Amino acid sequence: MAVNDPIQEKLRELRDTYARQLPDRLNTISALWSELQDHWDLQQQKELHRLVHSIAGSGLTFGYSKLGQHARHIEQLIQDAGSESLVDLSLQTRLGNMIKELRGYGEKQDAIMNNTNEVATNPLTESSPVVYIIEDDAGLASTLQIPLQQNGYTVEIFPSLSAAQDSLYDRIPNVLMIDISLTEGELAGVTFANQLQQAQIIPIPVIFTSRRNDIHARLEAIRAGGDAFLSKPIDAKILLDTLDNLTASKNRSPYRILIVDDDQDLANHYALVLKSAHMEAHTVTRPLEIIKALADINPDLILMDIYMPECSGTELAKVIRQEGAYISLPIVFLSSEENLEKQYAALKIGGDDFLTKPIPDNHLINAVHVRAQRARQIASLISRDSLTGLINHTKIKEQLQQDILRSARDHKPLVFALLDIDHFKTINDNHGHLIGDKVLIALSRVLQAELRKTDVVGRYGGEEFAVIFSDTTVSRASIIMNRVREKFANTVHHADGYTFHVTFSAGLSFFPKHNDCDSLIASADKAMYRAKESGRNKVIEAEA
Ligand code: GH3
Ligand code: MG
Ligand code: MG
Repeated sequence: MAVNDPIQEKLRELRDTYARQLPDRLNTISALWSELQDHWDLQQQKELHRLVHSIAGSGLTFGYSKLGQHARHIEQLIQDAGSESLVDLSLQTRLGNMIKELRGYGEKQDAIMNNTNEVATNPLTESSPVVYIIEDDAGLASTLQIPLQQNGYTVEIFPSLSAAQDSLYDRIPNVLMIDISLTEGELAGVTFANQLQQAQIIPIPVIFTSRRNDIHARLEAIRAGGDAFLSKPIDAKILLDTLDNLTASKNRSPYRILIVDDDQDLANHYALVLKSAHMEAHTVTRPLEIIKALADINPDLILMDIYMPECSGTELAKVIRQEGAYISLPIVFLSSEENLEKQYAALKIGGDDFLTKPIPDNHLINAVHVRAQRARQIASLISRDSLTGLINHTKIKEQLQQDILRSARDHKPLVFALLDIDHFKTINDNHGHLIGDKVLIALSRVLQAELRKTDVVGRYGGEEFAVIFSDTTVSRASIIMNRVREKFANTVHHADGYTFHVTFSAGLSFFPKHNDCDSLIASADKAMYRAKESGRNKVIEAEA
C-alpha cells in the first residue's frame, strides 16, 4: 500500500491527536484521584473508573501498550475493591502509586503496530472477477476456460502449484479453484490452500475439485476452508452458478457497520480500519442516538462498546432487540472486559459475540467481515422465496415502504404492479403441481430478463407477483408490463408431450397518486381484478 494512502494517513493523524491529548487525560485522572482522597464520592469514583477504563481500551490501539496494560491493572483493582473499600488504606496507597506510574507509561509510544497493509491486495474493486484454476488435467482446464470467459470471468490456468506461485504473489484472485490432489502429492491442493488462507485477512473463496466424491475428500476440503466442493467431471453450468454465488458479494453494496463507542478517537480508529477493507463504517458516540442511526444506516452489524456513560452496551442491546426489525441484527461487543462471567452475561442478553480490546486491526477486519457476510447470507435466505429465488411478500412490502420514502424525497414517480396468473388452478389440475411450479419459475425468469436491474421483482403470494418500478411514470411502466405480458404469453410450456401457453393479468398503481404502501397495493389489486373481469391477459392502470 502506498505511503500516502489517505486512510493510513488519517490513522496516523488519529494516533498523533491521541498522543497530544494524553497528558491532559492523565492529569485529569491524577486530579480526580487527589479529590477522591480528600473526599470520597461514589460518582467521582465511577468517573475515575471510566477514565481509566477508556485508557485501558485505547492505549494499545494508539501505540501505548504498556500504558494500556497498566491502566488495565488499575481498573482491575478499582473493580475488585467494589464501592466501599477505597477507604482501605493499603489499597489506597497502592492505587495512588500506580496512578503516579501511569504518567510515566504515557511518555513512551511503541513502534507502529500492525496495520492494514495486506488488505489492499484483495482485488475487491476489480470489474471482471479473476479466477485461478490449479489443475493438472490440461484438457479439463481448457474446456472450462471458454464458458467462464464468456460469462465475464478472467481465467488463469496453472498446471501445478509451482506454476501458480508467482502469479499468486502478484495478484490474489477473487476465487481459487484447485484440485485436492496434484502432481505434488495426494493432498497437495488442500495443504496449499490452507497455507494461502493463513496469509489472508479476508479469506479467498476456494472451490476444491476432485475425482473423489467420498466424505473423507469433502472433509479435507471443509477443513481447509473450502467454500464449495465439485466432483469431477465438472459441469460448466454448475461451476458458473458456484462462481456467481462466491463473487456476488463483490457486486453488492459494501457491508455497513455501525460502531457505538463513547470514545470518539477509538470509534474513528475502528471506522478507518474497516473502511480500509472496503466496508462502510458509521460511528455513534452518544448511545442514545442509536435508534435513529439504525433507521438511517440500516447496518449489517453493530460493533458496540460495553461501558459507556449514558447507558451500557448491554442495556442498549436489549433495547435494540425489542425492535422486531432488528431481532437478527448481529451485535458484537467490543470491550476491554476480560472477565468471562461478564462477557457471558453480555452474550445472554442478546449480543452475538465478544471481542476484547485492544484488538489488532487485521483481527477486527476479519471478525467483522465474516460476521457481516454471514448475516447477509441469512437475511437473504429469510427474505427470498425458495422456488423462484425472488424476494418474498414481507420483503417486497418493506422495499415498497422504503422506495416510497425515497421517491417522496427525490420528487420522483414510482409504479407498483401486481400480476396474477390466469386460470392457474386449471394448469395444476391438468398437468400437476410440478408443472405448475415450472410455470411460476418461467414467469419469474421472464420478469427478471425483461426488467431493469433497478426494478424490484418479488413473489407476492401463490401465483401472484409484484414489481416496483422506481423513477418511472405509469405510462412507461404500462408499456414495459405489456411487453412482459406478450413475452410470457408467447412462452411455450411443456408437459408430458403436450405444449401449452399461459397468460397473466396485471394492475398498476402509482405514486404520488397513491401515497402510501397500503393504498398503492389496494389500488393495484383493484386494477388487476378489472383486468381479470374484462377478459384476462391484460395490463390495466388504476383509476384516478
Ligand atoms: P384467475 O385467472 O381468476 O386468477 O384463476 P386462478 O385459477 O389462477 O386463481 P385461483 O386463485 O382460483 O387459483 C390459484 C391457484 O394457484 C390455486 C393454488 O393451488 C395454486 N398455487 C398457489 N401457489 C402455488 C405453488 O406454489 N405452486 C403451484 N403449482 N400452484 C400454486
Ligand atoms: Mg390468485
Ligand atoms: Mg390466478
